[in-house]
Amino acid sequence: MEERPCDRCGKPSRYVSSVGGIARACGNCRATWRRRGRPVLMEPAPSFTRDREGHMEDFLFLRPLGLSNPQMAKRLGVSERTVTRYRRAAREAAGQAA
Ligand SMILES: [Zn+2]
Repeated sequence: MEERPCDRCGKPSRYVSSVGGIARACGNCRATWRRRGRPVLMEPAPSFTRDREGHMEDFLFLRPLGLSNPQMAKRLGVSERTVTRYRRAAREAAGQAA
């Protein structure tokens, strides 16, 4: 049977199925989903390289709301340290564009 990448964590898995709003969830993510009490919408996996760009886009989208780092980290499903990194990256990108 062919392995397919999990939509949440990106790990290839032999058996993927749809849970918690994830179209193709691997066994690990399904187990996490069950542990969290089977939410309708599962939170994203904590920062994997595959998702970095998407998170950065989400960060840029949320940034004008003026959320604190902990709030932002929760929304994005990343650590506060990652949010700090995004803020720096965004500042540097703005500096380059100007
Ligand atoms: Zn997974």
